[in-house]
This record gives sequence, structure tokens and C-alpha cells, in this order.
Amino acid sequence: MAVLVTGGAGYIGSHTVAALHERGEEIVIVDNLQQGHRDAILGGKLYVGDLRDEAFLDHVFSENEIDSVIHFAANSLVGESMTNPGKYYHNNVYGTLCLLEAMNKHGVKRIVFSSTAATYGEPERVPIAESDRTMPTNTYGETKLAMEKMMKWFDTAHGIRYVSLRYFNAAGAHESGKIGEDHSPETHLVPIVLQAALGQRSHISVFGEDYSTEDGTCVRDYVHVSDLADAHILAVDRLRREEASAIYNLGSGQGFSVKQVIDIARAVTERDIPVVYEARRSGDPAVLIASSERARQELGWEPKRDKLEDIIRSAWQWHLANPQGYAKA
Ligand code: UDP
Repeated sequence: MAVLVTGGAGYIGSHTVAALHERGEEIVIVDNLQQGHRDAILGGKLYVGDLRDEAFLDHVFSENEIDSVIHFAANSLVGESMTNPGKYYHNNVYGTLCLLEAMNKHGVKRIVFSSTAATYGEPERVPIAESDRTMPTNTYGETKLAMEKMMKWFDTAHGIRYVSLRYFNAAGAHESGKIGEDHSPETHLVPIVLQAALGQRSHISVFGEDYSTEDGTCVRDYVHVSDLADAHILAVDRLRREEASAIYNLGSGQGFSVKQVIDIARAVTERDIPVVYEARRSGDPAVLIASSERARQELGWEPKRDKLEDIIRSAWQWHLANPQGYAKA
């Protein structure tokens, strides 16, 4: 029996494929390679295609004995989602609908879903618990919430059980040094800071110095991508035990400001990282910190690489070895 990983050539997807492979699972990957990288796949059988292509997906489910799905495939740029919401509804929401229909047709009853802290929007309190209000401030988060709700109704009607994992800020790279973070365009803080350390950017633009936080910059909860990968495997195990659908936050429970991240990156890289202060980026909440108590108690999830310095060091090793990211096809 195989685990189908959609978006398995992407950043978190490829680290999860690596973890599944290390565990000896049979893996089938579906990726349209619009964002993903062929070289990021360290195991399993790749099908290049799109979830919205019904005949393609039917072929994948017919050719393999799939017992569980881990669903990463989606667009995930907050800024782009605000200027082109249709793209996000089409790829993320309609793509998930096609996947769930195919699962239902082929009798596959388990799905682990790649969700996000962006489903909460501006939090009412921190740390954020899963039962807190979900009121996304951007289209990206809105589509992820719509996908979660869709899964709930497919569970009610068809018994397709799900575990939705709401990640906070993923960072870092695989300990083998073979895979890491390579987005195009890059919008995330840690890789951009490291690109500045490498001299590939003249500076890092810090978006906002007037938030109501200790040093005025936004505070986020950074979690190592391999710890996220481990959580997906624990979630598959939960579904294989026939336990009920559930939603879990995944974060370290610790907050670091943008300035603190830059200072730690300076110490790790021993390079100069010039900073330019700019206006706030729209839609950025001041503080996002997870309560991951539920994941710890119910999934037995224990982040192993929880020091931000170590997370940034693993990302730095990847950037040093692969300054241009993956080879462009
Ligand atoms: N950020 C920044 N400069 C950048 C990229 C990000 O100051 O070039 C800030 C951003 O405003 C946020 C934090 O860094 O407060 C983390 O942003 P990222 O895009 O990495 O993740 P998000 O929290 O938006 O998911």
C-alpha cells in the first residue's frame, strides 16, 4: 500500500517524502512541477500532472494501491493571492475538490492536509489554539480554510477522515544537505536573510518597525521543516489507527522578532546582513505563536530541532552548498 503525496516536489512536501522514504513507506508523488523541483524528490514514483486533470488523477489512483493521501499541492504566496484570487480558488479549492472526488471514487479514506496559521488571521490571543476564531486576512488563508471545510463535509458524507496540520513558520533544511528551501520568487524571511548574507541581495527589507512588540518588528513561531515532516507521518499513523478527523497547530510555541531572526542569522553565518526598514506589509499580524499542545498530546509530536539557531544553521548549510537553489530544468 502506498502513500500518495501531492506537491511532493515542493519545500515541505519533499522533506515529508524524504521522511516517508527513510521509514520504508511506498510513495507515489503527484506534482505539476510549477513550483516544485524534480531534484527535490529523494524517493518514490513521480507522476507529473495536475490535480484538476480528472483522467490523469484517475490513472494515478488506478495504477497504484493507495491507502492514504498527504495533500500539499497548492499555491501559497500571500501577496499573489491578493492580486489574483481566482488562481487560488481554482488551483487550491477546485484542485482539492478534484482530489477528494477521486479519493471517493477509488475508496481511499485517509487524507493529511497541509494547512496554515493564515487560517486564523489576526489572532484574538497568543498562543493560538485550534479552537480559536478563524478569520483569514488574505485569500491564501481563506482558500486553505475552505479546503479544510470541504474535507469536513466529505468526512460526514463519505467517511473520508482527515488530519489538518496548521503550520506556523516553516524553515530549515534536511540534515543530509540534499534538499532545502528554493522558492521562486522567494518571499520568506529566513531564505531572504540568508541570500543577503551570501551577497545575492544588497539588504533585507524589514517590513514595519512600529508594531506593538518589544522591538517593534513582527514576532513569528519558527519550526524546522523536518519536524513538520515528522508530524505528517504521525498524522498518517493516527488515521491508520482509524481515529477521528482532527486539526492540529504545528509550531515551537516560541516567538522571535524579525530583528532577532536577523541577529541570529548574523551570528550563524558570520556575515554582514544589511537592513533597510520599510513600511508594513499588508495583512501581517503583529504576533503569531502556536499552542501545539494538542499535537503533542494526541499525535505524540515532539519537535526535535527546536533551537532557532540550529534551524537557521541547517538552512545556511543548504544555501552555502546550493547558492542558486536547485538546478533549473
Ligand atoms: N519579513 C520581512 N522582510 C522580508 C520577508 C518577511 O520583514 O523580506 C517579515 C514579515 O513581515 C513577517 C516575518 O518576516 O513579519 C515572516 O514573514 P514570512 O513571509 O517569512 O512568513 P509569514 O509569517 O508571512 O508566513
